[in-house]
Amino acid sequence: MIKEQQVLDEWFKAKGWPYWSPHEILARLMEETGEFARLVNHEYGPKKKKDGEATQDFEDELGDILYTLACFANTHHIDLDSALARSLEKVAGRDKDRF
Ligand SMILES: [Mg+2]
Repeated sequence: MIKEQQVLDEWFKAKGWPYWSPHEILARLMEETGEFARLVNHEYGPKKKKDGEATQDFEDELGDILYTLACFANTHHIDLDSALARSLEKVAGRDKDRF
C-alpha cells in the first residue's frame, strides 16, 4: 500500500468520516479527470485560459485524481501499490512487443 493511501485511511478513521459511496467517488473522479483534461487543453490545445482563471498545474490535478482513486481503493480494500505493480507487469510482459 502506498504510504499516502494508508495516511488517508487513518485520517478518515480519526475524523470519523465515512468515504463517499462508489457512485459519488466515480462522479468525483470524472470531475477531476475533466479538470485534468481542461488543463491539458489549455496547455496544448487551442482553448486557452480565460483572463483571471485560476492557475492550476498538472501535479495538482493528478494529485486530485490519485486522492479520489485512493478513496475508492480504500473502500474496496485494494492495495494501490499492488494494483500499479500488476499494470506495470502487464506492460512489461504481455504488451512488451506491442508498442
Ligand atoms: Mg482538481
